[in-house]
Amino acid sequence: MLLSFLLICGNGGAQGVTRTDPFLRQMPTQTSPTLRALPAVPRTAPSTPSSVNLAATPQNATFGNPRSSSSGDQTRIVFDLSPGVTYTLVPSAAGLTLGIQGARVVPMLTASLGSSVSGYRAGSGQVTVNTPFPLSSTAGWQASEATLASGNRVLILDVGSAVTGGASESLRALTRPPSTASVAAPAPLSAAPTPVQPTSTALARSGSLNQLPPGDLVKSSVEAPLAPASSSLDSARPSALTGRVSGQPLGVPLSAPRFSTAPGFTRVVLDLPPGTSYRIEPHALGVRIHLSNIRVRPQNAQDLSPELRSWRLEPTPTGSQLDLVTGLPTTPGSGWRAQVLAPMPGNLQAQLAIDLSPALANLTPLPAAERRLAAVPPSRATSGAALLALSAAVIRPRVVLDPGHGGQDPGAVASVMEKEVTLAVALRVRDLLRPAGVDVVLTRSTDQALDPVKSKDLEARAQLAGSGTQLFVSIHVNALEPQKALRGYGIETWWNPNHPLSDNLASLLQRRLIETTGSFSRGLKSNQPLAVLKNNRVPAALVEIGYTSHPVDGLNLQNNNYLDRVALGIAQGIRNALTSGTGAENALQNAGNSR
Ligand SMILES: [Zn+2]
Repeated sequence: MLLSFLLICGNGGAQGVTRTDPFLRQMPTQTSPTLRALPAVPRTAPSTPSSVNLAATPQNATFGNPRSSSSGDQTRIVFDLSPGVTYTLVPSAAGLTLGIQGARVVPMLTASLGSSVSGYRAGSGQVTVNTPFPLSSTAGWQASEATLASGNRVLILDVGSAVTGGASESLRALTRPPSTASVAAPAPLSAAPTPVQPTSTALARSGSLNQLPPGDLVKSSVEAPLAPASSSLDSARPSALTGRVSGQPLGVPLSAPRFSTAPGFTRVVLDLPPGTSYRIEPHALGVRIHLSNIRVRPQNAQDLSPELRSWRLEPTPTGSQLDLVTGLPTTPGSGWRAQVLAPMPGNLQAQLAIDLSPALANLTPLPAAERRLAAVPPSRATSGAALLALSAAVIRPRVVLDPGHGGQDPGAVASVMEKEVTLAVALRVRDLLRPAGVDVVLTRSTDQALDPVKSKDLEARAQLAGSGTQLFVSIHVNALEPQKALRGYGIETWWNPNHPLSDNLASLLQRRLIETTGSFSRGLKSNQPLAVLKNNRVPAALVEIGYTSHPVDGLNLQNNNYLDRVALGIAQGIRNALTSGTGAENALQNAGNSR
């Protein structure tokens, strides 16, 4: 490390400023950067994490999953800053490179984040934001930090050929001068603005970046949380969401929808004047928003993002409607989310935000009444051994839960660490099943493997489902390599033909998991022998509860409400299996009856 070239920014300025959302605020007040040469002493975070969220603890801190939006040729990128994270900023002819300390960088490779970001590459402690124009220490970019109303700290990068400022005083970063080594890097050196993308046209009309829609998932400015439409596919629960913006109609026409994107995620924002009524209706091809008490000008556009194939705004006999056609699965309970954001200061228009991502799941807290499992009746002992062992001919059903990986084997690592999430879910499932009368055996209840050798570890897990065990359920988290990260999302359940009832168990688990989480269903899989399943003597299944490599699914897996919902889905699936004759003991009985 070339310590003598490291410059550290002062830590004053905007530290005390609290903002609701980086996309809704004014541009951060910029003072000319005063870069002082100081030893590179990483700063530690002043605050401790306020929640028990898996991702928020310092040892699990991650960096990545940027949100972005563009206005003209200017692109804003926002990163969450976990406590304890420090970073270096190195501008070059090819873009900006961030060296990250104190957090694991979420691997990701994507072609574009907006009009002025031609590439995004993250992994191995580093994030590179490529620009189609060269950066100097003060030209082409500006970096600042802000604190959201939620208390979360964010890093805001603005890039554009006309942007100036470089690093602001508020940064905790260590900033290095432009890298001379990178000047020779093969990159487009033209400082001419890049062609304006269709998404940017609407944004540009709104004037400045402080008008941009929030590409953020913060809840702090939510006036009326609507998300998601329905926690299940139960037809008795209406999936359409309705509302009305308070106040008298002003007679002004609706302005064009605004858009912001992040990898795997698109947000559409409608600025609704007072008096406007809306009704949101999801359907197989997307989301339709019915509007009344508002005039609209017919308009449409195509190919805005992978999540938004096209949109069309047009008058109807009863008012008007906005059709959002998604290129990816949409159901009443998944693939989209709606919320109403409070009007910005000095503006009467409410902002209706429709989020589109095939990985959006139900993150609302489970109602208290649904946090319990109905009792599982004791099963009749049907085998001779059990009858001999027990004077009463009833036994508590026994289930083995297997939190995947552990110890030296972290499993998949990106937004979350697989071994931590699988254990967190298994403990929740245990806590649901035990009060319901189920004897739960965990293959591990701490961060450890059963054997340092992987094959022996898997064998030992399967062996725990011995005589007297009715079911075995293994819990895992999925992942794809960074280049394919956006293609993997949702839940799938695996079974092997180790037992005639394993497919029954898998199908019950999958169904209940999709109901409780609203996740995209990847269905049942059985085309690979999995050691922990194929060696099992009882009905066994393996659930993959989401993709840590997907930016939106990764956020789901960091969310305790999501983990509660996953656990409830697994527990309900197990309960259904036990009460419907899918357990091992019942298999013997069934086999006997059929002979
Ligand atoms: Zn795994």
